[in-house]
Amino acid sequence: MPDSFTRRPTRRAYRCVCGNAVFLRNSACLNCHRQLGFEPERAQVVALHATEFEGQWTIESEGHGNDLTGARRYQRCANYHSAAACNWLRPLDASLPGGDDCLCISCSLNRTIPDQSVPENHVLWQRIEVAKRRLVSQLLALGLPVTTLTRTPWQDAERGLAFDFLRTLDPQFPVTTGHAMGVITIDAQEADDAHREATREALQEPYRTLLGHLRHEVAHYYWDRLVAGTPWIEPFRQLFGDERKDYAQALQTHYAIGAPFDWAQRHVSAYASSHPWEDWAETWAHYLHMRDGMDTARSFGFEAGDIVVDKLPYTLGALWDSQRPGAQAYLDFVNNWLAITTVLNELSGSMGERDFYPFVLPAAAVAKLQLVHEVIKAAAVK
Ligand SMILES: [Zn+2]
Ligand SMILES: [Zn+2]
Ligand SMILES: [Zn+2]
Repeated sequence: MPDSFTRRPTRRAYRCVCGNAVFLRNSACLNCHRQLGFEPERAQVVALHATEFEGQWTIESEGHGNDLTGARRYQRCANYHSAAACNWLRPLDASLPGGDDCLCISCSLNRTIPDQSVPENHVLWQRIEVAKRRLVSQLLALGLPVTTLTRTPWQDAERGLAFDFLRTLDPQFPVTTGHAMGVITIDAQEADDAHREATREALQEPYRTLLGHLRHEVAHYYWDRLVAGTPWIEPFRQLFGDERKDYAQALQTHYAIGAPFDWAQRHVSAYASSHPWEDWAETWAHYLHMRDGMDTARSFGFEAGDIVVDKLPYTLGALWDSQRPGAQAYLDFVNNWLAITTVLNELSGSMGERDFYPFVLPAAAVAKLQLVHEVIKAAAVK
């Protein structure tokens, strides 16, 4: 029986119908010059076949390139021609009428984007969208519910998600990255590498990326949606602590005196020790890093099996619930990830770069990650 890892991989290696290797960001094949697009439901980059209607496409598959009978039609996301350069497709059918302003599911999550009349905002927004498409493609592949707060047709006005990408205009009122009631605010300045790197240094963080911010904030959203008021709250409190303790006070203490000296024995990051909600967000983000990393490695046939490392692997004793179906598969996933990242860190060192994976996972974090794994597995639609 396939485990949840092999059943729901986020594939990252794709092929054009001509056989050429293509990637998540590609919108044309460099070998055969066919148009390409990302089809969110299939979670795949596909080759496109032009129909008799301008801007309408079908998916080309080997041998069926010209057979349009009954084939689903698509149009490109309206953000294809914007700075976002979105290569995602949007299906056209009775329930999804097309039009020039139709966005794909990833772009439909945007509520506010940086002012595009300011030229320097083009590149900031573009980088944010590249990271966001990577995030959303993974959420969809994992089967997590992805609905939008404000825009049809994937709208859920009660429980949907929306992004505000904002820039600070007045330093007295700086934009703060965060999540509230389904709205994720991202300080667009974080897409400026020099700014983000300076912040990383100032906060003594080993890792700070746009994708990391998005995965962290979406964790708060899914906590509200999947954990609050559900039976998961009990194991959550057991592992992460009681989230009812004063949040504002906890963050204030964290920024005033820093993390406890022994945080590394219990958390994936220093910030995770500030409050159970932040621990959840850091742990969830970490789980998405690990899953994407492992799925990408597997997509390219890079397996941990042949790697020789001297570290002792984790055993079932490190888990939150070693009796659950799939516990061994989860444990193998963690140990394989640790083996692969050991090699990747050495490879980074051989290029004179910082560690690719600047984390040490304590057993307590392995247990918390298992709960995240189980919550995601149980939430999978279909
Ligand atoms: Zn091709
Ligand atoms: Zn789009
Ligand atoms: Zn947070």
